[in-house]
Formats: sequence, C-alpha cells, structure tokens
Amino acid sequence: MPTHKILFAASEAHPLIKTGGLGDVAGSLPIALQAQRQEVCLIMPAYHDLIIRAGKLTRIHPMLAGFPKGVRLLEGTLPNSKIKLWLVDAPDYFNRPGNPYLNPQGTDWPDNAQRFALFSRVVAAVAMNKAGLAWQPDIVHCNDWQCGLIPALLSLEATRPATVFTVHNLAYQGLFPAETFAALNLPASLWTTDSLEFYGQVSFIKGGLAHADMISTVSPTYAQEIRTPAYGCGLEGLLNHRAERLTGILNGADYTQWDPQHDTLIPYHYNAQSLQNKAANKAALQTRVGLPVAADIPVFAIISRLVEQKGIDLLLGSLPELLHHKIQFIMLGNGEPRLESAFSTLAAQHPTQVATQIGFNEELAHLIESGADLFVMPSLFEPCGLNQIYSLRYGTVPIVRRTGGLADTVVDATAETLKNRTATGIVFNEATPPALLTAFERALALYQKPALWQQVVGTGMKQDFSWKHSAKKYLAVYEQAIAWKEKDTKM
Ligand code: ADP
Repeated sequence: MPTHKILFAASEAHPLIKTGGLGDVAGSLPIALQAQRQEVCLIMPAYHDLIIRAGKLTRIHPMLAGFPKGVRLLEGTLPNSKIKLWLVDAPDYFNRPGNPYLNPQGTDWPDNAQRFALFSRVVAAVAMNKAGLAWQPDIVHCNDWQCGLIPALLSLEATRPATVFTVHNLAYQGLFPAETFAALNLPASLWTTDSLEFYGQVSFIKGGLAHADMISTVSPTYAQEIRTPAYGCGLEGLLNHRAERLTGILNGADYTQWDPQHDTLIPYHYNAQSLQNKAANKAALQTRVGLPVAADIPVFAIISRLVEQKGIDLLLGSLPELLHHKIQFIMLGNGEPRLESAFSTLAAQHPTQVATQIGFNEELAHLIESGADLFVMPSLFEPCGLNQIYSLRYGTVPIVRRTGGLADTVVDATAETLKNRTATGIVFNEATPPALLTAFERALALYQKPALWQQVVGTGMKQDFSWKHSAKKYLAVYEQAIAWKEKDTKM
C-alpha cells in the first residue's frame, strides 16, 4: 500500500475525551493506520477537559486568517502514541467543561451548529493547506455529523484531497432549522436537496453522505440496514443512490486496553487457562457494587448509554421475570432520566440482586467486563457496538439482538454451533421483552452445563477483532476515494 497523508477529523477521541464508541475508534484507528505506514494527523476541537488531559501543547502562530478573533491551532501528541494532534482552539466555542455536545442539564448546547461548523471550516482550511502548517493531506477522514460539513466545503474546491465519511450512528444527524443555514454563512450552492437541505432543515450529516468520495459505516450489516426505511432515518434514498460508494468496516478492539491478560484497570489478570482469576474479579466486582459475594450466582451486566436505541425498555420489561431466577444484575450507565430512575427503583426493590451505578466510569467498566458472567446488549439498532467485542475477550458471554455489528460479531449458541465449536454467545431476533427473556433463559440453561459454558467462553476469548484487519480495509477505502475523486473532478 502506498503511504498517504491522512487528516483524521473527529469530535472525540479516547483518552482525551469520550462519550461512546466514536471516541474509542478515533483514539485507536489512527494508531492502527500509522502501524500500516501511513502518515496520520488527528484534528479535534480543543474542549476544556481535553486540554487538561492533552499534556504538552504548543501554539501554532499566527491566528487563523478569515476566522473569528482568537481562533488558532494547538499542536501536541495523542497520549500514548506518536500521532500528531492538532486542536482547534476557539475558546468561545469549545472552552466549556463536561460533555462535548451537551450542557450540564443534559441538553444540546444551543450553538452546536456554530461550534461544529467552525470546526469543519478550520479542518477544511487545514486540508487545503491554508492554515500555515505547510502540510496537505491526500485523504480527509471525517466522522459523524460534527464533521459533515467538511466534505461539503471541500467539494467546492477545484484541487482538493479525497474525502471519506464514516457514519458511527445515523440517528444523530446534526439537524438545525433553515435559519441556521443563513446564520452560518455557508455557500448558497449547498442549500439544495442534493446537498445540506433535508425537508426544510439543514442536515450536517448530509454534507458527508452527499459529498464524500467514499462513505463507510462501522459494520457490514449496518451498511445494509441503513439502506432500508426501518434503519435509514429518511436518508435511505440518498444512501441507495450512492450505494456503490458505501461500505461497512467493523470497528476493531484496542486490545492494548481491553484484554484481561494485561488490563491495568482490573485486579486479577487472566486468560482462558486461568479463569479462576476471573472468578476473583467477580468477587471483587460483587463487593465493589454492594451485592452478595457468591461464586455460583450468574452475574448479568450492561454498560450503556441509557437511550432508546440500546433496547433499555426491552431490558426493563424482561428484568422482573429474570429476577425470579437466582441471578444478579449490574447496570452501569447514564442517559435519559426516566431510564436512570427505573434502574434505581429496581435496585431499591431488589437490593441483593440488582446494583445500579449511574454515571460514566471507565475503571468500573473494565471491572464489570472482567467480573460479570454475561453481558446484555438488546439494542434496537447497533451500528457496531464495542462492548460485546470486549465481552468476548473477557470471557463474559454476550447476549445480543441480531442487528448491525452485534449480528456480525456474535455467533448464536445452537445445537449446530455448539457441535462445531463456533458458538460465542446468545443471539435473539425480536425486539420484545418476551424474546429477550427467552434469550436470558437459554443463557441460564447453558450456564448450568459447565463443559458447554467453558467451551463458549473459550471460543469467545479466542476471537480476534483487532484493528489490524480493519485498518487494512480502510486503506482500500482510501484508494477507492482517491479513484472516485479523480473521476469526479475530471468531469
Ligand atoms: P455507543 O457508541 O453507541 O455508545 P459502543 O458500544 O460502540 O456504543 O461504545 C460504547 C463505549 O462507551 C464502550 O467503550 C463502553 O464501555 C463505553 N461506555 C458506555 N457507557 C459507559 C459508562 N457509563 N461508563 C463507562 N464506559 C461507558
């Protein structure tokens, strides 16, 4: 593969700032690309909390021409890597503590359109070598709606880098009222239904979907699903129109952080040959969350944003029945207040069976992966999902709904897959509480058969979803993007 210069733009990246899977991807894919001998620079907004964690940063002079006063670039390194990091420092837009997208009340910042339009404009300026960096990429890899305007802006340039737009979740689109379009001072030619207009509103994600040279999403199944009305969020027509440029590449897992053999956040390291240490982590987990320490009681767990997408209502609908069995359930998550309080109520009603931890806690997430027996992901849709992939490596058997990346990563335990030793979890179809309950009961029946259970755990732990395979697939997508760009700009 030739070496390309890649500008990787994202609104979050672990360990600098993370709210979900996008953060994991943006923190690890650039490193995996660099390992494939690519020259990668990561560009992100300089949020308040990010600057605190970023270590040594240098200011790049001068201020950016053509941008509001005070907007400049900072340069550093993505922690624990050799990836060059550029931060768009615009204090009026990004110097706010907490979540990058939400205010302390949990609702969107009212100026999110302005914030991510500014970010996109600066990235486009860097991509066109107009930011005083003496560097121009061949590829600009944009992620989710926050970066959607980048391919749209670059499409107006005669000589430009190729663009790739990755959809991590089509349900988040960056939709704003039509007046916002005028307020953002965007080129008038972008206000068409072939571009940013979406039923009278401005859609940031459409900037990526309509203008990028290649579009990818984070699993092959989700790439198919989003072309249908059930999953396409009204964008299925556009996605079908551009189907030859749409592909699905499964997210990788960063096994330097998510492997029980060397995870620095868990008390006891283990592998498939030393599962007694997993049992020790289970006891530590039970103690930590205040449940009775009992080796023989299966511990079910979920770590999730508490939003409708994650199938939390299915879970809440089936848990009362599941709790009739001798089991424990641990929930770590935060999100919609009604869902948070439903779990708190359940924990209060079943103090010896249910533990609820409201909040975002990286260290507890690792302890749960290492100590639980079963991991539940009943998502209504799931672009890729990472926790089921982590669960496999931790010997924590996943129970998932057959959708998106969940369908692509977990093999249901059936008579046949148990016989040919490919089973890695429990997969169910219908998005209903009874279907989830049946899946729970199948999981419990398997748990009661130690030899088969060990086999499923062992097969899961052997699965390899490392970034290397996926990074190579992205390289192929970059080649396709370059070829499309050359074809399109000749026309
Ligand atoms: P999504 O991006 O839709 O939230 P993913 O499964 O792709 O879902 O990624 C979620 C990531 O965020 C995982 O690394 C998961 O462990 C982490 N995560 C989600 N909620 C929490 C939480 N409350 N505390 C710690 N980590 C969390």
